[in-house]
Order: sequence, then structure tokens, then C-alpha cells
Amino acid sequence: MKNFTIVGGGLVGALQSVFLAQRGFRVDLFERRPDIRNADIYQGRSINLAVSNRAWKALRKVGAEETIREIAIPMYKRTMHDIHGNLTFQPYGKEGEAIYSVSRGELNRTLLQIADKYEQTTMHFDARCANIDLENKTAYFKNDITGEEMSHVYEHLIGTDGAFSAVRHRLMFNERFDYSQDYIDHGYKELHIEANEDGSHKMDPNTLHIWPREDFMLIALPNIDGSFTCTLFLGWEGKVSFQSLKTERDILGFFQYYFPDVIPHLPDFMEQFLNHPTSALQTIRCYPWHYKDSVVLMGDAAHAVVPFYGQGMNAGFEDCFVFDQMLDEHLNKFENFFEAFGKSRKPNADSVAELALRNFIEMRDLTADPDFLLQKKIEGWFYQKHPDKWVPLYSMVTFSDFSYEYALQKGDYQNAIMAQVMKMPNLAEKWNSMEVEEKILHLLSHS
Ligand SMILES: Cc1cc2nc3c(=O)[nH]c(=O)nc-3n(C[C@H](O)[C@H](O)[C@H](O)COP(=O)(O)OP(=O)(O)OC[C@H]3O[C@@H](n4cnc5c(N)ncnc54)[C@H](O)[C@@H]3O)c2cc1C
Repeated sequence: MKNFTIVGGGLVGALQSVFLAQRGFRVDLFERRPDIRNADIYQGRSINLAVSNRAWKALRKVGAEETIREIAIPMYKRTMHDIHGNLTFQPYGKEGEAIYSVSRGELNRTLLQIADKYEQTTMHFDARCANIDLENKTAYFKNDITGEEMSHVYEHLIGTDGAFSAVRHRLMFNERFDYSQDYIDHGYKELHIEANEDGSHKMDPNTLHIWPREDFMLIALPNIDGSFTCTLFLGWEGKVSFQSLKTERDILGFFQYYFPDVIPHLPDFMEQFLNHPTSALQTIRCYPWHYKDSVVLMGDAAHAVVPFYGQGMNAGFEDCFVFDQMLDEHLNKFENFFEAFGKSRKPNADSVAELALRNFIEMRDLTADPDFLLQKKIEGWFYQKHPDKWVPLYSMVTFSDFSYEYALQKGDYQNAIMAQVMKMPNLAEKWNSMEVEEKILHLLSHS
């Protein structure tokens, strides 16, 4: 029977511990922070995340899907708010298909609760991994409140300690370890829309709200307590940027001009804007993800991506699913398992990183572009008619099992076809005609 040590009890670490415990393995999970199950999540104004197919699939495999659905709100479409407060809508997928908004803190808490039910699992909180002795398979932890230090000898160690992973940091001292960290020019700030007095939502809760403003955007996802978590993605520097919003007058003018319909829902936007932190966004790539058969990275520790495709956690949960799947084949030849796992996931991690970077442009700019919306409408219509021939990129990433690598390649191919279709004259009037259908079929069979 194997022993696993998990460093990082966030989303991926908690789920991974459930997968391992269900196989009967002994699990020691070390988390830097205090136990989130004792914390008031909303006091921390936790961000919310969009859960989609890949995460559901992993949760289903450990029997946690129903429990998580109870704390999730389906969002069937995007609602775009223009500068005058006019709304347009874009369904995310086929009828009934939705992405689900869930509080990150609530999700983490629930997964830890599930993980804790297994008697072979031991959780250690306030335990920050400070160093790892790879040769002697010993991890060193520190309680940052009491200063207490402890060491732990491991058999296999999984680093799920997020974007600023201490485990990855240790691997970086190994020869031929590739690492890159790329910040984008935009940062983000969270703002919170309270529920109505009766606990209801101030806007439609079954949609993801977007205020696309070309170079920046505001989004809002619903919470189960009737509130919304809004995120403003804005350049660090530039004409309209966090840097340019220096005075209360600048901030007031910014909201009045760009987000007039948000102000009634956010009467204290000034206070929130001034007091909430501004955070950076980055893509982290590294390789290899393992050290011999003793250490492996998963989740953001291996591949942090910008949040614009809503796939960071989904990709991390898919790591857990694939790890479990591959474990079946490797139980009797464990020596190269971690290497094989990293090899199989790395192209997908790189692809989702690329997709996420591209989707920022789509969300902040193209969702307000009539040609883009027409293209999406045509793709959705053609998909309904020929699901065997065409799956829109968003659906491949969000609602399917296709690998991210395949989705990226296929998406580029389909986009080249749509570029031809979009050149057809008077397309807006005949977008769902036989002529358009035949054109796409022709292009598909000749490319
Ligand atoms: C604004 C924003 C919006 C997002 N939206 C989405 C979305 O809609 N959908 C989606 O799928 N993803 C989204 N993501 C990405 C998602 O949050 C991450 O991909 C996900 O949290 C990664 O999980 P993880 O467990 O790998 O890392 P984390 O959730 O960061 O967990 C890491 C854990 O390790 C602990 N830790 C850190 N260092 C140490 C140490 N030295 N020792 C011990 N413990 C340690 C931390 O305290 C933490 O609990 C978003 C991210 C951001 C920033």
C-alpha cells in the first residue's frame, strides 16, 4: 500500500486526496493556511469560479458531483451590457448546457469535508512547506503563527500548492528544469454586489454578466447567497488603467462613463474600489513536472493560466481524473508513472494556457462585435445540424472531453473556415440558409 503526501490543500489538493483515499492509500495533506472549514468564507469575499464539464467529470468519479451542485448556480449564457445599458445575449452551448458559478472558498471547504471522511487521511493545517530534501525524501514545514517547525518523511509527494508553489521552487534547482512566468498587462480587482433585502439577486443569476469595453471589462458571477462577485480586469498602465484612476473623481467618472448600469447595484463602489486589492495575472509553465518517482506537480503548481476561459481549476481537476486513470496502468510499474503523467498532461496545459490568453480578447472586445456574434450564431446553428462535423471551440473546451490540445488545433482549423464564410455577401440576412450550410460543408470537405 502506497503513502502519499500532498502539499497544498486548495481545490486540486483536496480533490486529489479524495481520489487517493478512495483507493485505500494513506494520505497526509499539508496546508499552509488555517482550516478553511472554520473560516467565514464571505468575510473574505471569496472569488467565484465557473465549473464546467472537466471538473464535473472528476467530481462525478469520486461521487462528489451532487454535493457540489448544491452550492453551484447554472449560467446558461453570457449577458453583454453595452455602455448605454442595452443587453445582448449569447448562449454558452446547446439548450440546457451551462457553466456553474461556485464560490472558491465554499468549494474548497466542501472538498476538504469530503476528504476528511477517510480515516486513512490526515490533515495538517498551518503547515507551510518551507523546503524539501529530495534525496532523503523529507519535507520541512513551518507553522507561520507559532513558528513551530516539523519534518515529514514521504514516499510520494504531490505538489498542489498553487501558482507560487514551494514544491516547484525546489524542483527548479534541478538540472534542466524549464520554467517561465509571464504576467499580462492587466490586473484585476474584485467588487461585491450585495443581495436584495429579501435575499434575491439584483440581476439575472443564471447568466454570466459581461461589460466588454474593448481593452478592459467587468464581469459578474452569481453567488448562492443572492450576491454577485464582480471582477474588473483593467490595464495596469495606460490611458484608462488602474494607474490612471488616482482620485475619487477619476474613479467616479470611470464608473459613470463605462458602467452606468452597475452603479445602482454597487452604491459603495468607491469604497470597494479604493479598499480592495489589485492583483496580477500570469501564466506559469514548467517542465518536467516530476522528480524520479517521488515528487510530482499538479494543478496551478504545474500550470497556472489566466482566468479568461474559466479553465484553471477545470484543468487541475482533469489532472486528478487523468492521474487516477493512468494509475490503473502503472500500479505495478510505478517507476515512470509521474514522468508519464507529466508527459501526457503538458501539451494540454500549454494549450489551455494559450486558449485562456486568446479568450481575454474575445471577452473584453469581440463579445461587443456584431460580426463576431454572427459568426458564433452560425457556428451554433451548424453545430445543431451537424454535430458529427462541427463542435464550436467554446463547446469543445467547456462541454466536451476532447483534449485541450485537440480543441486548440481544431478551433484554429474551424476559424479559418469561418473566415471564408464571413466573407459571403449579405450574410446577416441568410446566416441560416442552405447556401451557408453548403458553403461550410464544401469548405470542410476541401480543406
Ligand atoms: C480571478 C480568477 C478567476 C478564476 N476563475 C476561474 C474559473 O472561472 N474557472 C476555473 O476553472 N478556474 C478559475 N480560476 C483558476 C483557479 O482559481 C485555479 O486554477 C485553482 O484555484 C487552482 O487550484 P490549485 O489547488 O492548483 O491551487 P490553489 O487553489 O491556489 O491552492 C493552493 C493551495 O496550496 C496552499 N499552499 C501554498 N503554498 C503552500 C506551501 N508552501 N505549503 C503548504 N500549502 C501551501 C495554499 O494556501 C492553497 O490552499 C480563476 C483564478 C483567478 C485568479
